[in-house]
Amino acid sequence: MTINEILSHKLESRIAAVKAADLRSIQLKKEIPQIEEIDASLRSVSIKIMDAALGDRSTLNERLEAIKKENDTLLLKRASLLEQHGYSADYDSPQFECTLCSDSGYIGLYFCECVKKRFNKERYTGSGLGSALYDKTFDNFSLKYYSGKSESDLSHRENMTLIYNQCKRYAQRFTPSGDSILMIGGTGLGKTHLSSAVAQEVLSNGYFVLYDSAQSIFDGYEAVRFGKDNRENIKKYENCDLLIIDDLGAECMTQYTVAVFSSLLNWRIANSKPTIISTNFTPQQIKKSYGERVYSRLMGEFLIMRFTGQDIRLLKLSGKN
Ligand SMILES: [Zn+2]
Repeated sequence: MTINEILSHKLESRIAAVKAADLRSIQLKKEIPQIEEIDASLRSVSIKIMDAALGDRSTLNERLEAIKKENDTLLLKRASLLEQHGYSADYDSPQFECTLCSDSGYIGLYFCECVKKRFNKERYTGSGLGSALYDKTFDNFSLKYYSGKSESDLSHRENMTLIYNQCKRYAQRFTPSGDSILMIGGTGLGKTHLSSAVAQEVLSNGYFVLYDSAQSIFDGYEAVRFGKDNRENIKKYENCDLLIIDDLGAECMTQYTVAVFSSLLNWRIANSKPTIISTNFTPQQIKKSYGERVYSRLMGEFLIMRFTGQDIRLLKLSGKN
């Protein structure tokens, strides 16, 4: 949904709310005839306010104060009359979805929060970041699960702290022609958490991000190949500002999926479009499965992040935290 579609949707709901309120107002006046009188007096009050501005300026405040009092009295009378008949005081006021902007979509010249929220939600839904990934942010990524020594000189925690900081910097300074990242490491080491944290941060900065599993991406290409889907639906993988391919190597691998991956990768590299790939495969497994060329492109063009530690999901289950 574009901003314009969201605004026109807002306008429709505003019109519907006003219409529904009008109907309730007509019904009220039939049922409680005094309401009609009070409303007529309220209308005359607004005319009095306009007249007051034309009169003697030195007594303007006093006169406005008196009119305001009259107005408040009428409103109170109206409210108690409604309550006596079992209605809420705002029974025939329009019930807007957003009370901040009365469903106009604007606060002054700016978009209301409700429009911005809706727009962001649309982008999230379209990004492939499901609700399971929503809560995986930089703020709740915990380094406490990483302990012990890694194969390098760094401890697991030192290594993961470096990776965490690198990812955060990457997301904050993202540009649509920036670096690509290859996240390597076993299951449960936080690759999905950090890649979705990057996705959310980059999305919130207004970029077009797509997050999808390798399997689902290749399924998309397969569907187009067999005429089950429109080519436009896979173009997004080529054109998005940031493509995040989750769990490469877990897909059902065929010559076709290897060819698709290779050409998608080449296309994005040739057009300087960043890609983040996470995989449980070791570099050697990547070479063996996707071939020498893919392997050397990944090793040569991607920033390699080696996730280390113990499977966090198992640690959480065993309660060792
Ligand atoms: Zn609003």
